[in-house]
Order: sequence, then structure tokens, then C-alpha cells
Amino acid sequence: MSSREGKYEFETVALHGGYSPKKDSQSSRAVPIYQSTSFVFNDAEHAARLFALEEAGNIYTRIGNPTHDVFEKRVAELEGAEAGLVTSSGMSAIHLTAITLAEGGGEIVASKYLYGGTYHLFAETLAKYGIKTNFVDPHDFDAWEEAINEDTKFLYLESPGNPTLDIVDIEKVAKIAHQHGLKLVVDNTFCTPYLSQPIKFGADIVVHSATKYIGGHGSSIGGIILGPADFLLKARTEGYRDIGPAASPFNTWLFIQGLESLALRMDRHSENALKVAKWLEEHPQVEWVRYPGLESHPQHDLAKKQQRAFGGMLCFGIKGGIKAGKELINNVELCSLLANVGDARTLIIHPASTTHEQLSAQEQSEAGITDNLIRLSVGIENIDDIIADLEQAFNKVNS
Ligand SMILES: *Cc1c(COP(=O)(O)O)cnc(C)c1O
Repeated sequence: MSSREGKYEFETVALHGGYSPKKDSQSSRAVPIYQSTSFVFNDAEHAARLFALEEAGNIYTRIGNPTHDVFEKRVAELEGAEAGLVTSSGMSAIHLTAITLAEGGGEIVASKYLYGGTYHLFAETLAKYGIKTNFVDPHDFDAWEEAINEDTKFLYLESPGNPTLDIVDIEKVAKIAHQHGLKLVVDNTFCTPYLSQPIKFGADIVVHSATKYIGGHGSSIGGIILGPADFLLKARTEGYRDIGPAASPFNTWLFIQGLESLALRMDRHSENALKVAKWLEEHPQVEWVRYPGLESHPQHDLAKKQQRAFGGMLCFGIKGGIKAGKELINNVELCSLLANVGDARTLIIHPASTTHEQLSAQEQSEAGITDNLIRLSVGIENIDDIIADLEQAFNKVNS
């Protein structure tokens, strides 16, 4: 639109980006699911040009697919990235990014406040393939600097971090990365592009678990990588093609449905989570509350700078330690006890005994996970029902 210099706002791109009914399909208003393994070539020469990457086109869904193409273009536009690549899971997006950047071995410098699966991938699995990770306190900029050496291939962080919800200063870490000629990769799963666009703050590559808020309904596993077109072309034609972490077109179609209501859901998640956080702060059975939207959060001002709102994730420490924590999660009725986040429904978990259980006691403590920490992924139910459920569960603790 000319009045907006050819650019639509977030909500509009989330509904229309990357797709034109007349140009891209048989005028279908909804994005079609191209549930097909392969695509017919015009002739032998056409096939040869596609294989030689001389011409863009569809070959085989392990390499690319028209439904995937819409999702990739749409999220790229929302994140302010040149291109995207959808994968079968968030973990495969992170793995593919890491092996593409750390080709031939080398080192990663990463924040120590990471999703448990990412921590394990970096600390254990990649180490077996000769890629070593140095974990640092993400707020200690000297530590980032000192951990970088001639073998370092990229820097990696998550903001807010899981499950401690530390907000990391992306601009400062990006500056350090670029001074050393390195790329910064940011896991933006908890914010989604609606709440924060790390590329604006200097990040080079963004990864998501689309399983969470982007899908938004707890129905499908998937991931996406966003970044420079040349990096994604390399990732697609090497690791993606050879290892095979392609998404299913049906799942990608569900992620497109998720994107269409993402802004509305993230606003409601953020509004509900702030209310729950304030209610917990006043609760006599609660020792502490961590939510980026609370003034008591150590990086509250940074969260205000980097994010549009504060998201749906919060954690708190219950008085009475591990025993009280277990009693609480055993007594919720509306909240679901499970290992996921970013569902439209409210979810609850005790990370020390589940998502971060693979970590040793010392690793747990380094990652900020205490025995009494409860993580809540606040949903979009009516706020009164969420609080009433937590209240009745608190009443059953120590009874
Ligand atoms: C869930 C999650 C992942 C892993 O994604 P999957 O889709 O489960 O493979 C990575 N990072 C964060 C922050 C997550 O919450």
C-alpha cells in the first residue's frame, strides 16, 4: 500500500504474506496443502536446470514444497529476514543451523540459559561430532568475549531463556559476534516475531520451535530457520537434503493457520500471564515470581526495549520446596501437566524432574533451575478460570 511504502503491518502480513491466490494456486483463498512427494518437470532440460539450481522450482518435498514456501516467506517477512526454511521440529532447525555454521568442527559459544533439548544437543550430541560448546552467563559480556577463540563458528542465545526467563541483550551480543566476524543465532520461540524481531537488534539467524506459539494449538511438531538467503540455500541443498529433516506439508499448513491468529493470541497470552504473575506475587505460598513484565524482573527494562509485550511464560518458586511443588501440580484441574509450552491452553510443569532432568544437579543449578521452580505457560482461557484453578490447587498443598 503506497501510504505505507509498500509494507503491510504485522497482523496483515500474518494473514497474506507469501501467497497470492491467483498467482500461486487455482485462486484458492486459503493456502492449499500440497500433499505431494514430488513435482512433474516440463521436460528433461527443465529437470536438469532445477537440479543444477539454475532455475527455482519444485522437485521433491524433502528439498522444498509450495506449502512450505508460503510459510517460509511469510515468517521471513514477519521476522525481517531474507529467507526461511521449515523443518520437522525445532530441534532439527537448531541442529541444521549448527552443523551448517560449524562445518568441519569448531566451537560454539552459547548462553547457559537454554531449552533443555538444545543444551543436550550442544553439550553431548554435537560434542561427539567434534563441535564443542562453551556455555556462558549471557549477561556477562566479558565472558562472551573471553569464550571466543579462533575455532569459534557462531554465538547462540535464547531470549527469554527457558525456563528462567532471562532476557538477553541481543544488541550487545550481536556486536561482540560481529567484531569477531561471527554470526549470532537467536532462538525466538518464546517471543515469536510478534513480540520481538531479533534481526532488528543485530541477530543474523533466528530459529523457532513452531510447535509452540506459532502453531499455537499443541497439535504439530515443527521448526523454522530464518536468515540470509545464501545461508539458507546452503542449508537446504546440503544438510536439509542429505539428512532429511523436512516438515510435513500438513503440519506446515497448520502452522500457517497458527500464524493467522498469532498477534491476537500473543496479546491475550501476555495479558493473562501478567495478571497471573501479579496474583502469584501477592500469594502467601509463593516465594518468588519470574516474569519479564514484573518490575521485579532483573531485565524488565531490557524486556521493554526488546519486546512489544512480555509473553505467556512465567515461573515461580513455591514455598515448601519439591514436595509442595509436586502437590500443586498434582492438584490442578484446568491446567495441563505436560512437557510443552505455547499452547492456547494453560500448561504447568516442574522442570527439575522433567524437561531438565537430563542435566546433572550442578548443571541444573548453573541453568538456574531450583527444586521448587514451577513453570507455567499461561493460556488464553478466561483469566478468572486460570486463577481459580491455581487457587484451588494451592489450597490442597500441605493439607
Ligand atoms: C520446544 C523448544 C525447542 C525444541 O523444539 P521442538 O519443536 O520440540 O523440537 C527449542 N527451543 C525452545 C525455546 C523450545 O521451547
